[in-house]
Amino acid sequence: MRSYSDFYRRSVDDSEAFWAEQARLIDWQTPPQQILDASHPPFARWFVGGTTNLCHNAIDRHLDARGDQPALICVSTETGLERSYSFRELHAEVQCTAASLLALGVKRGDRVLIYMPMIAEATFAMLACARIGAVHCVVFGGFASGSLASRIEDAEPTVIVSADAGSRGGKVLAYKPLLDEAIRLSKHKPAAVLLADRGLAPMDRVAGRDHLMRDLAAQHRGAVVPCAWLESTEISYTIYTSGTTGKPKGVQRDTGGYAVALAASMPHIFDARAGETYFCTSDIGWVVGHSYIVYGPLIAGMATILYEGLPTQGLDRQPDGGIWWQLVEKYKVTVMFSAPTAVRVLKKQDPALLKKYDLSSLRALFLAGEPLDEPTGRWIGEGLGVPIIDNYWQTESGWPIITIANGVEKKPGKLGSPGVPMYGWRVKILDESTGEELSALNEKGVVVIEGPTPPGFMQTIWRDDARFVNTYWKSVPGKMVYSTFDWGIRDADGYFFILGRTDDVINVAGHRLGTREIEEVISGHANVAEVAVVGVADALKGQVAVAFVVPRNADGVEGAGALALEGEIMRRVADQLGALGRPSRVHFVTGLPKTRSGKLLRRAIQAICEGRDAGDLTTMDDPATLQRIRQLLWP
Ligand code: AMP
Repeated sequence: MRSYSDFYRRSVDDSEAFWAEQARLIDWQTPPQQILDASHPPFARWFVGGTTNLCHNAIDRHLDARGDQPALICVSTETGLERSYSFRELHAEVQCTAASLLALGVKRGDRVLIYMPMIAEATFAMLACARIGAVHCVVFGGFASGSLASRIEDAEPTVIVSADAGSRGGKVLAYKPLLDEAIRLSKHKPAAVLLADRGLAPMDRVAGRDHLMRDLAAQHRGAVVPCAWLESTEISYTIYTSGTTGKPKGVQRDTGGYAVALAASMPHIFDARAGETYFCTSDIGWVVGHSYIVYGPLIAGMATILYEGLPTQGLDRQPDGGIWWQLVEKYKVTVMFSAPTAVRVLKKQDPALLKKYDLSSLRALFLAGEPLDEPTGRWIGEGLGVPIIDNYWQTESGWPIITIANGVEKKPGKLGSPGVPMYGWRVKILDESTGEELSALNEKGVVVIEGPTPPGFMQTIWRDDARFVNTYWKSVPGKMVYSTFDWGIRDADGYFFILGRTDDVINVAGHRLGTREIEEVISGHANVAEVAVVGVADALKGQVAVAFVVPRNADGVEGAGALALEGEIMRRVADQLGALGRPSRVHFVTGLPKTRSGKLLRRAIQAICEGRDAGDLTTMDDPATLQRIRQLLWP
């Protein structure tokens, strides 16, 4: 077995040789002439002079060796549809969609905005864009008209690809009226709209602008559309970051660097192999979906599962709460990728569901998107009997920054830590006010990345280099380093622990506390399924912590039972963190407000606590959760 520390060292000490080697994992039409151009920091241009294509690497290059093997497996427990496309079939579908886009006037470099549910056509559209060199901008299907409009205005797409509707837990969400309203609100108007009709909701079509995918597909079935050979540094896509206020930030990615970063991550991090099946439960609207539902697995020659539906038992057609494990058994999934929040949802169900299916194919479960709390990590690890690998990254990074490189060396994980810096990432912890590197162990500071950033990292903010430099690279005094805006510490073994956003910090009586730290302690209580802690303004202490808890056992959290549990939770925090962190109140609720990607909307809860407006809630999953908190606090 290789030593990860040697592997890592080489990636930063002899970075160009290291990445030149990784670049061989993909096909190039013209090989790169220069591995890295870092002459204009903080911009890093990878594999300069090389030409390649993401779609070629994801599909065409596999046709000879595995053309008839499954590539895309679409399962919807919302519609009951289940269909597998081989690499050859995917090749045909993508060319057909590419021909449709070309017919609608899309040219290389044009933007195509994709606003779609988790259906095959969404993947066809992304890959079709990559094939012809159009820039895709996938906007999460849960966004409403206002957010969609601002993204349309920023991206200025030639064509928008959408669908009649999405569906969640049996509830149909019509997309087309939202899209029409967004286009009406936007100053920029697309030349054409291409629509998948799932027969879920009626669609009014605008004559001359709106086209049905199936009509165009009928004209272009069997089309041969060659891959456009793009410069490595040419844009592959933009994706808007979540949680930002004001003008959306379009994170812009290149082509060659991204392809190499993903190709390298498949063996090194995921220990994944061609011919196997990868199951990522994210959404194509998020960066995790781009990298590990669509491009990563396909580039590696794996089948990828695109799942539409809830993980738990829902309404009508909904499966039993073991649907994910059923898919693992059926498709012999070897690598699975999900989020802690989803696991916490599963945790509320019967644990027997974890034992109902044959999971022997599964080698590891990767979790990302938010800190993995110890009880959740332990629960799922024991339930599945496979390593649970936390991985820390951001929309900006494109692939994991901190985790365990399972394919290089199976280093043991540590509960509560995503692991160690991945090859290519120069991760440091700095004092936020002085910019000095914190060398002492377990000293809390801002997690930053020193340039040059590795392949796959964002190139810039779409059409706004100045904002890219000012927002990310100038926040630490005296140093040009990329700020993750996360707090972290490093232990004696070099493992990092992420302590929450620098912007999620609360200050109690002059002492700063991470709400995450308090949540971690509370979620260790046997009767706590989920918890959110927010800092609420307090006349005496500046801020106090207030906890919102979803009890595992709802009985007994009323009246005297609630008082008792509240007392236990307060004591637990006081015992483990000290009195400062002890919540001033513990409220019991049936659900917590989250974004569709599962991030807790702490700031919205905090606003309600302080009697303020909860702000932009367009990414929110279930608005009723916030309503109930409002009623509880302000009856
Ligand atoms: P996003 O760009 O929306 O994916 O959010 C990225 C942010 O999510 C990071 O800056 C962290 O605050 C958080 N995050 C993602 N993955 C992890 C993880 N494994 N552990 C802790 N925090 C995480």
